[in-house]
Amino acid sequence: MRTPLIAGNWKMNLTLEESKDLVQSIHFSNRWPGTVDIIVAPPLTGLHFLSDVLKDSYIDLAAQNMFHQHSGAFTGEVSPSQILDAGANYVLLGHSERRQLFNEDDKLINEKMKAAIKHQITPILCIGETLDQREENNYAYVLATQVISALNEIDIMDKNIIIAYEPVWAIGTGKTASPDQVAEAHLIIRSILDEKYSKELADKTRILYGGSVKPSNAKELLSLKDVDGALVGGASLNHSDFINIISSAKL
Ligand code: PEP
Repeated sequence: MRTPLIAGNWKMNLTLEESKDLVQSIHFSNRWPGTVDIIVAPPLTGLHFLSDVLKDSYIDLAAQNMFHQHSGAFTGEVSPSQILDAGANYVLLGHSERRQLFNEDDKLINEKMKAAIKHQITPILCIGETLDQREENNYAYVLATQVISALNEIDIMDKNIIIAYEPVWAIGTGKTASPDQVAEAHLIIRSILDEKYSKELADKTRILYGGSVKPSNAKELLSLKDVDGALVGGASLNHSDFINIISSAKL
């Protein structure tokens, strides 16, 4: 039984006061404790502040990124132990904006996955094909490559990871993948976990959909068989939209 998970990726948005208002309105709507897991991923500067605001809440925190080294001369980077110290138990890794705008490749993402797992931070591994790769009918290969390279040299069997399928062409564009496209991609990802690793890993790993999820499409997408939740960007910045999407998660 996989508990549904709705995660909000705030990207580079919101001041501390705005983020406090947003998490409090989610927390005080108080409709789902235990039935849906909820995570928000604020900018790094908000993590410590929000961990205090959320200390008695069922809402968890994720970092949007981290570096894999423990400490040292890496100006501008933040380590796994610093993420934990700031109150996050999850981290987004391999988001398409990191891959595209900051040139993160599969090798670096694999190093970060290893570091997250070593520090018992649950990684939310983001994968997904570009529009060209979809149009060339190459997406199954792309998804397999991204999963397998991210998990390279990781003894994954007894670990918890979350995967977010986020077709690059649907992120922040207003274009959502169709239910058939989402269902097929999620089945492909679960089959990779089953065939390459184990049935147990395939059964327990939550696979989220991300890409222009909004109140109007959430129910249909979240009711698909292999969809265990959503990674929400733009709509997670608006409390009524985000609450509405959480309410659409299947129980
Ligand atoms: C994201 O940033 O992970 C995302 C899915 O964004 P949006 O919902 O805005 O497409």
